Amino acid sequence: MLTSMAATMFATAGCIQHHTQGETMRDCPTLLDMIAGLIAIPSISSADPLLDQGNRAVIDLLAGWLQDSGFRVEIMPLPGAPARANLIATLGSGPGGLVLAGHTDTVPFDEQRWNHDPFCMSEHNQRLYGLGSSDMKAFLALAIEAARGLQPGDLHEPLIILATADEETSMAGARLLLEQQRPRARFAIIGEPTGLLPVRMHKGIFMESISLHGQSGHSSDPALGNSALEGMHRVIGTLLDWRNELQSGFRNQLFAVPVPTLNLGHVHGGDNPNRICAECELQIDLRPLPGMAIDELRGELQHRVRQTLAGSGIDVTFRALFEGIPAMETPASAHIVQLAEQLTGQRAGAVAFSTEAPYLTGLGMETIVLGPGNIEQAHQPDEYLSLARLQPTVDLLQNAIKSVCINPGQLL
Ligand SMILES: [Zn+2]
Repeated sequence: MLTSMAATMFATAGCIQHHTQGETMRDCPTLLDMIAGLIAIPSISSADPLLDQGNRAVIDLLAGWLQDSGFRVEIMPLPGAPARANLIATLGSGPGGLVLAGHTDTVPFDEQRWNHDPFCMSEHNQRLYGLGSSDMKAFLALAIEAARGLQPGDLHEPLIILATADEETSMAGARLLLEQQRPRARFAIIGEPTGLLPVRMHKGIFMESISLHGQSGHSSDPALGNSALEGMHRVIGTLLDWRNELQSGFRNQLFAVPVPTLNLGHVHGGDNPNRICAECELQIDLRPLPGMAIDELRGELQHRVRQTLAGSGIDVTFRALFEGIPAMETPASAHIVQLAEQLTGQRAGAVAFSTEAPYLTGLGMETIVLGPGNIEQAHQPDEYLSLARLQPTVDLLQNAIKSVCINPGQLL
């Protein structure tokens, strides 16, 4: 049980240097030491190679604690990326079971705007500050804490703690799990920041670049060229019409924005007022509702753009800026949804951000997103996790473990 006194004592100890890679550990450290230890290891994911760090040291730290806690630990390196790995840690055996899942990477941070050291957990005003406190390294420490003292013999169905790589960028870790068809279990809880409210639905996302190739020429005579910019004007009209169609065809009231969105985020074309524009690029994102398949949407997008340009002499190339994450939906009637609703006393809802849930769903698990952080604090300077969220999260996870792994016969 965590008390504010314990937290204060910890804080006065200052920033403690925690177990480093390769150190032998006999006892699993306290919850706060684990959270601080995870935050202390930078594991930034970024498309910018100068910022990108990999997550292997975090995985090794977790692997040590989990091994000491009696879990069978498997590290699954990402092919061709030695600094990245997933971790599958299993207590107990047999079919069924519960996965507690989280990603080990964080987004980059803006040093100038932080008032706390992002890599040195500090406690202030009943909050634990640090990069990854809310989104979401702390959840993995909470999952280990919830399993503290459990023996394999206590479990009728296995408990699996799953830690992934590269969630914040490519979802490469989750994609690899799907490819390898591991781990398998009946249920999964992903501890992304939902303010301890169960979430059974989120939108998908993909990003596409549309480049039009016309012909430059002197602006005094339109016949000398073929304006890619004017072509783009028509393409944008087509996309806005398509957006209207999508928004009148698809609606889900569980979302704050109940329709799919299509954003024209970036456009660049031409160079000079007196030259006919030869090249023009538009970048969009599209966020589908559950039930809308990304492959089909991409096909439709390309078909409509090509049709718009047919006969114009303007060529088009498409490039996936972000391959995409499918939307996720676990039915309201699913056991994991009902269990989460029972344990939290809250109706399961929907969020606007994407998670690894579609990949775990793809592995056959009934999946819910439910974690202690708040999305408002994620990806922000001075990211924090409220101390008041720790014990309720441990209690909730212990109850979920009891219901799924220890007494599965009594499952709802
Ligand atoms: Zn996250």
